[in-house]
Amino acid sequence: NNDNKLSLTTRIVIGMLAGIAVGVLLKLAFPDNTLVDGYLTKGLFHVIGQIFIASLQMIVVPLVFVSLVVGTCSLSDPSKLGRLGGKAVGLYLITTAIAISFAIFAATLVQPGVGLELATDAVYEAKAAPSLAQVIIDLFPKNPFNAMADGNMLQIIVFALLFGIAMALVGPAGDRLKNMFEDFNTVIMKLVVILMNIAPYGVFALMAKLFTETEFDTIINLGQYFLLVFVVLILHGLVSYSIILKGMTGLSPRLFLRKMREVQIFGFSTSSSNATMPVTLETVTKRLGVHNRVGSFTVPLGATINMDGTAIMQGVATVFIAQVYLVDLSMADYLMVVLTATLASVGTAGVPGVGLIMLAMVLGQVGLPVEGIGLIIGVDRLLDMTRTAVNVTGDAMVSVIIAKSEGDLDVAVFNDPNADIAAR
Ligand code: ASP
Repeated sequence: NNDNKLSLTTRIVIGMLAGIAVGVLLKLAFPDNTLVDGYLTKGLFHVIGQIFIASLQMIVVPLVFVSLVVGTCSLSDPSKLGRLGGKAVGLYLITTAIAISFAIFAATLVQPGVGLELATDAVYEAKAAPSLAQVIIDLFPKNPFNAMADGNMLQIIVFALLFGIAMALVGPAGDRLKNMFEDFNTVIMKLVVILMNIAPYGVFALMAKLFTETEFDTIINLGQYFLLVFVVLILHGLVSYSIILKGMTGLSPRLFLRKMREVQIFGFSTSSSNATMPVTLETVTKRLGVHNRVGSFTVPLGATINMDGTAIMQGVATVFIAQVYLVDLSMADYLMVVLTATLASVGTAGVPGVGLIMLAMVLGQVGLPVEGIGLIIGVDRLLDMTRTAVNVTGDAMVSVIIAKSEGDLDVAVFNDPNADIAAR
């Protein structure tokens, strides 16, 4: 039934490109025009863009809770849960560590900060990185409603897992509740698809606003840093992921990346793994063939603890700032950077700009001036978008790998280029 209309992916791509084009043209044609700024940038584009993001965020908490309860209570063997958790956390940490090591290596090679004289008067305070003990304690909610109201994803995950396990253990009451949750889940997934259908407009508005506001001069000044982060992100997203996916599952990376296009655009335009989560989950379960009992766990977990793209930015930025401030980092420092950034990515949510907060922790940890963030903040927005696209791709890839290893991947769905297209 989709023969005579453009596919959703195509429409979203068009929305994004049109938004970028309109933004750039407006910026070039009417620089500093107050009417454009007032009625479009801060008016129409802003309103539509914010409504779009809010409506995505609106479904995140109910979606995660309901789909994870459904996934958990249908697990036949509870010991599977522990294995799943171990694999997911392990793979997420390993891919993050690979990403940041790759970034540090590239930055020490290219040396983007050598010979630069930059000054900043920004003042930053380095927050201490959370301790492992605190990260673990904070997993457990005192009050699940607070956790939901705050959108504390890890606590919601823990509560949903415990709730789902209890449901699986009680017999008839659990079965009745399960039917209800399943219906609830079906309805929320429908809501996700409805929102995806308005995405071309939302994405258009976000891009148009951003590009009428982007100061390209700043980007040119920090060209080396910007390009390096950008290139490493793209390489990691395309090459590393392809190698890892192919190596661990034998599945086609091209097909995977093609199906991820929408999710990447959502990540790119919202700058938030969290807000993108409904789309990631929809794609992972419906189009990539991951069973809900794996995806409903790995996707929200990944959106929170897995940030490969962000880790890449941490690596390059740390080396860059060290070079600008003429500080020599030792091998031990680099290890510290890898550790802190990986741990910090567990403790921070996938929302816009959080990479800078993590960077403050990393810089503090290796004794670099935290003011260094002031040097790169001007170009961070576009990089935030790009790294979020990488972050969400990593979440989906790990979900596919785990599902495959657990026998929970429907390979026919993965291999069908048009899987679930009609449902949209
Ligand atoms: N915006 C990123 C995300 O949501 C985090 C960051 O790098 O700032 O995944």
